[in-house]
Amino acid sequence: MSPRRTRRQEIVERLRAEEWAFADLRHDLGLTVRILEEDLKHIQKSVRAVGDRLQLRSASCAGCGFGFTANALHPPGRCPSCRDRRIEGPWLRIT
Ligand SMILES: [Zn+2]
Repeated sequence: MSPRRTRRQEIVERLRAEEWAFADLRHDLGLTVRILEEDLKHIQKSVRAVGDRLQLRSASCAGCGFGFTANALHPPGRCPSCRDRRIEGPWLRIT
């Protein structure tokens, strides 16, 4: 991460370049769920101000394929259908 860029600028650049799974972005930047979620809430507002959108593709269960419908930014802990913890997504991108 460049010292001249803030963490939020770094996240915005990454999300403009490609779609990221919440967990991959979090691990890559070494952030907690809470901090990344707060950054994303802030980013959601700041990109809207310049006419862009933070797009969210909902999470799904790797075990049974259950699709989460809530537009929560952070990944759910486990599947309400099969109790599996292997949750994929949510995926994020700025368009
Ligand atoms: Zn499931």
